[in-house]
Amino acid sequence: MTVLSLQNPATGEQLGTLTQATPEQVQQTMKRARLAFASWATTPLSERLDYLARLRHYLVEHGEELAQKISQATGKVSLEAYMTEIFVTVDTIRFYEKNAVNMLSAQRVPTSLALWPKKSYIHYKPMGVVAVISPWNYPFQLAVIPVLSALVAGNTVILKPSEITPSTGLLIEELFRAVPLPDNVVSVLHGGREVGQAVVAERPAKIFFTGSVATGKKIMAAAAENLIPVELELGGKDSMIVFEDAHLERAANAAVWGAFTNSGQVCMSVERLYVHEHVYPEFLKRVTEKAIALRQGFPDQAEVGSMTSPQQIGIVREHVEEAIAAGATAVTGGHFSSDSMFITPTILTQVTPEMKIMKEETFGPILPIMTFSTEEEAIRLANATPYGLNASLWSQNKEKAQRVAEQLESGNVCINDVIISYANPHLPFGGVKQSGIGRYRGPSGLHAFTHIISVIHDPGTRKREVNWYPYTKDQEIMFVTLTTLLFGKWRKWNRQTLGAIWREVKRLF
Ligand code: NAD
Repeated sequence: MTVLSLQNPATGEQLGTLTQATPEQVQQTMKRARLAFASWATTPLSERLDYLARLRHYLVEHGEELAQKISQATGKVSLEAYMTEIFVTVDTIRFYEKNAVNMLSAQRVPTSLALWPKKSYIHYKPMGVVAVISPWNYPFQLAVIPVLSALVAGNTVILKPSEITPSTGLLIEELFRAVPLPDNVVSVLHGGREVGQAVVAERPAKIFFTGSVATGKKIMAAAAENLIPVELELGGKDSMIVFEDAHLERAANAAVWGAFTNSGQVCMSVERLYVHEHVYPEFLKRVTEKAIALRQGFPDQAEVGSMTSPQQIGIVREHVEEAIAAGATAVTGGHFSSDSMFITPTILTQVTPEMKIMKEETFGPILPIMTFSTEEEAIRLANATPYGLNASLWSQNKEKAQRVAEQLESGNVCINDVIISYANPHLPFGGVKQSGIGRYRGPSGLHAFTHIISVIHDPGTRKREVNWYPYTKDQEIMFVTLTTLLFGKWRKWNRQTLGAIWREVKRLF
């Protein structure tokens, strides 16, 4: 029996223990979730949304208390826990309350003249049991929002939260019990990789995974065995481009927040900063002053909390030390203490594209800065990574900003802002290249939790169709004529072709 330890990473305080789910528990949970699916899928959407509204009220009422608990589980400052875990979740619930009926209603689509008199529509069908496997950096909202999306769409859910922040998994379990949802509509299975693997092996109808690229690939390979659809929300190495016509003070404030919020443990952190050479000295002065002024500590009255995962500190340290050994300069920060979970916000200059700090996901409070001289160079540097999650660019020239935005290889782009695209639940979220597959949030994000069923409806009053047996010469003439008539440049019809069409139409009745 594996026991997970609940610990506050910032203080080292032990908060209790939790037993990892056994393989038998995973199997039983899947069985029960499948049984619960039958009734949840047929529960009217309005009733499903009532549960969400209750959850919203609960979160509004208990939000501060929950944020404190998330803060204890992660070491993030409580204001950040409130803004990024509670507020974002409540806002998403409201989005579903207002828009889910419209998004999940059957949709008529046009039917071409060649298919007359048929009508076509799409309807959205629940899939079954959705497995949500979530990470530790935003352990509440990155678990709860996909769970809610799956529920709204009529699925039941098994959530496997991160073993690095098990107390938040427990919190989520309690939350769904408090609403309360009908039995087995949401089940939480605590534990690490083995539990995640066991859930995947139970053949859920869909896997929604948020985590590292390496794990995403393993999950996709395992899912391929049973052709289980996967959605992968993976890592990033997000760029920020500051042009010389940017509002420098705003861009400097954004760089500091975008790189150091949540101690840089954000898939959309600013991990690479490219500044136009003309404004670089002034920009560097401003970001350095702002980074030095940050208050680091836990939990209240601080701006930068601790790291959440001790393993991540090792990766951050390796990237920084490798860069410094290869010639980079730490303008501020850059030192590590082996017994602390806090990393001082660090700014690195003299970095090069070959360094790990500019290529691989660092996931810590480190801001490496390079200069560029032309728009083309900035775009080339920003795109020179296997990742493509989020990017930001800073310019007061609207045309230039939009032109550059369209050339960035990134699933999400912010102009004169950072990270924030995720905050709009109307916008689909997801990565390109190795940052992921699929989108959640927005209408397409909700549809991703459904089977999209296409229906074509004929009145059924004619005895046959123009394309059915028995084939005739007239049929062939009619199709050739129709093709040129509907899609060609000139009209190829005469007495003979009209006669063929007429004889074919008569055969329908
Ligand atoms: P991780 O890949 O180590 O683990 C994520 C989850 O997968 C955990 O719950 C873990 O127990 C589980 N898991 C691990 N191996 C598994 C396996 N073989 N089968 C099934 N489940 C398995 O990721 P992490 O360290 O928890 O999270 C950090 C990563 O997540 C970073 O790379 C970050 O960029 C990424 N992330 C992406 C987004 C996004 O929206 N794109 C958001 C947050 C974090």
